[in-house]
Amino acid sequence: DWLVAPSLQAVFAALETGDDRVRVVGGAVRNTLLGLPVTDIDLSTTAEPSVVMARAKAHGLKPVPTGFDHGTVTIVSDGVPYEVTTLREDVETHGRSATVRFGRNWQHDAERRDFTMNALYADRDGTVFDPVGGLPDLKARHVRFIGDASRRIAEDYLRILRFFRFHAQYGVGELNAEGLRAVTEARAGLSHLSAERIGMELRKLVSAPGAADTVEVMHDAGILQYVLATPAGTKPFRALRALDAVAAESRDPALCLAILSDGGTRELQQLADHLRLSNAERKRMIASLEAGRAIRARLEAGERGVLDELGLAELLYRHGRALAVDGLLYAWAEVDAGPEDAGFLRALERLRVMPLPVLPVSGADLIAAGARPGPDLGRRLKQAESLWLASGFRKDRVALIAESAERTGD
Ligand code: ATP
Ligand code: MG
Repeated sequence: DWLVAPSLQAVFAALETGDDRVRVVGGAVRNTLLGLPVTDIDLSTTAEPSVVMARAKAHGLKPVPTGFDHGTVTIVSDGVPYEVTTLREDVETHGRSATVRFGRNWQHDAERRDFTMNALYADRDGTVFDPVGGLPDLKARHVRFIGDASRRIAEDYLRILRFFRFHAQYGVGELNAEGLRAVTEARAGLSHLSAERIGMELRKLVSAPGAADTVEVMHDAGILQYVLATPAGTKPFRALRALDAVAAESRDPALCLAILSDGGTRELQQLADHLRLSNAERKRMIASLEAGRAIRARLEAGERGVLDELGLAELLYRHGRALAVDGLLYAWAEVDAGPEDAGFLRALERLRVMPLPVLPVSGADLIAAGARPGPDLGRRLKQAESLWLASGFRKDRVALIAESAERTGD
């Protein structure tokens, strides 16, 4: 249905003039054929970038030259951005620095892409074009380099990680043998890549459902050491596999990285530096780890109560829902309790639906009861909160106002 969206059809209408054609390419075509959601839509065209700019403007669309020199113009149509890239071909292949020129040949454009399943095109009517034989591979969910794997990797070492990333996301069965041999041989090339490019692929890789198997192959091929700050033992696969079993879908990349790193806060800081993670990701990663380790410590101390209704309410109150869930998953993966563990299963279900506990007294309540704004109020709020927590969330507003007044000696 994204193909018939008026915003996209307007782009086709603006650019398909004379001999020029526009086709959707890459992830959008691949995911649609797999029946998976489509996040962004990339377009290819025979028209040169300056022509794309002019035609978009003439049709009242908003073209932004986001990568003009390598042929990319982002056209904003009805608020939706479409990346339009002019067909390219290599004149001389020497990696990403290859001399490229704009072309009009779909076959050559396809041959510059990485994997056969990523080189499928669709025109405005939905007709699919497959210049390099990607459809059978897509059907078999097999990630295959276009052309000679070693040569394609030497052009851009990021393709090593993309090979594993697409396998983790869409592959089934064994990795392509020729591809695996080639990426293994070329692994030292990873050290030439920027942390940002590695980080982008790694986030998608670790959060793919069932990533543990792929990560284990990367480890065995000696590749993981190039992307993580610290060499990983075998525990992370077990933990990641435990996570795969219980939370195949919707898992935060930060949680997966925390599990994979298999260290403490210090190791996570190193990994965050190494991958240039954002502050938000760094915080989330460390918070998942700390929430998870706290749960695990209490379980190991024999406090089964952490997973009962009250313990869960406290987790929710202290960490918020997303982190409480991540913490639980982290602890679950770490203690390797197995996907059948009834206590964890129930706890996860409850954490997802339980209402967030809200402290029943407010600052205004306490001021009305005689507290002075400022440090006095802060102290009394804290007091009310600990009384409330100690009562197992049972004490209500009236009781808390009364008791916090007594305790502070009014
Ligand atoms: P996603 O859904 O994760 O965005 P995608 O297939 O759209 O998947 P992108 O990284 O957005 O992946 O790249 C878009 C397309 O550009 C790919 O499908 C591929 O054809 C081509 N491409 C991207 N990066 C490379 C690369 N490093 N080498 C060769 N081709 C690439
Ligand atoms: Mg994409």
